[in-house]
Amino acid sequence: MKNQTEPDRLTLGLWPTPLHALPALSRELGCALYIKRDDMSGVMLGGNKVRKLEYLLADAKKKGADYVLTTGGAQSNHALLTAACAGKLGMRAVLVLKKRGQYARKGNQVLYDLAGADVRLMDTDDYADIYAEMERMADALRAEGHIPYCIPVGGSTALGSLGYVACAREIAAQAAAQGLAFDRVVCATGSGGTHAGLALGAALALPGVQVTGVAVDSDPFAQIVPALIRQSAALLGLSDAPAVPVQLHDMTGPGYAVPSEAGLAAMRLMAEREGIVLDPVYTGKAFAGLIELRASGGIRPGERVLFLHSGGAGGLFAYEL
Ligand SMILES: *Cc1c(COP(=O)(O)O)cnc(C)c1O
Repeated sequence: MKNQTEPDRLTLGLWPTPLHALPALSRELGCALYIKRDDMSGVMLGGNKVRKLEYLLADAKKKGADYVLTTGGAQSNHALLTAACAGKLGMRAVLVLKKRGQYARKGNQVLYDLAGADVRLMDTDDYADIYAEMERMADALRAEGHIPYCIPVGGSTALGSLGYVACAREIAAQAAAQGLAFDRVVCATGSGGTHAGLALGAALALPGVQVTGVAVDSDPFAQIVPALIRQSAALLGLSDAPAVPVQLHDMTGPGYAVPSEAGLAAMRLMAEREGIVLDPVYTGKAFAGLIELRASGGIRPGERVLFLHSGGAGGLFAYEL
């Protein structure tokens, strides 16, 4: 299935991540529920960004980069995994993070230290300010003879999204091996790359499977999903991008990275019934979206639904819930 023009990919995670049934919650919710464990992707405490970084850091290496710069919120899982993966490859990481919502020196802030990242907090709510600062820092590094590589928030570029095209292929192989079939995949939609990659990958490798993204951020990031799908298809050498519908269900609630009642209830349900930890920023709200869609009939009784666990454990410990 690999196209000859497909971009280079490094192996940074442990693949395939497990895919298994959730029997207790299937009974409770009245559908056939399965989970894809990208919380077990094998770097730090796991998470979805490892798949994107396999493509992004392959590109960085090819360009001879010795520094990787990226950004995110104060408890960014993406920034942490970028630092950890860069470290594995012998590159230095600079994380330029939004200061707002910094939850003391807890959670991912502790893990940034362990990963040896150089963390700069910026007092702004606007990523335009952050990208300007990243460019300034990249120029300074170049003036010292370094080769910096900048990754935008969430690693959600066309190249990064290919990590989730690969995930859809992995799911197709696991479904075939386990004799399973799915009607729908549900994921959290933050900066959009995971949703875009899964939607394109499903169109290519999981015929008949719908992808439903659950929005967890009121910022208009999710609007880039259709463009990412087109650009990622072009990177795969597909001149005719398949028609890929983009389904979104909003569960942002009180705001990005602000816990919601529905999200906390979903976290408790998953932990109590299945012994699996979700997080308050992404996966708790995404699972709450799945529950809400099942209750409203948006997910039909008996539907075979695969929930993507995209990680987030590090951020959990920044909260007092
Ligand atoms: C970043 C992230 C997401 C969202 O993925 P995007 O590709 O940014 O939409 C979901 N879950 C966790 C735990 C994340 O860190």
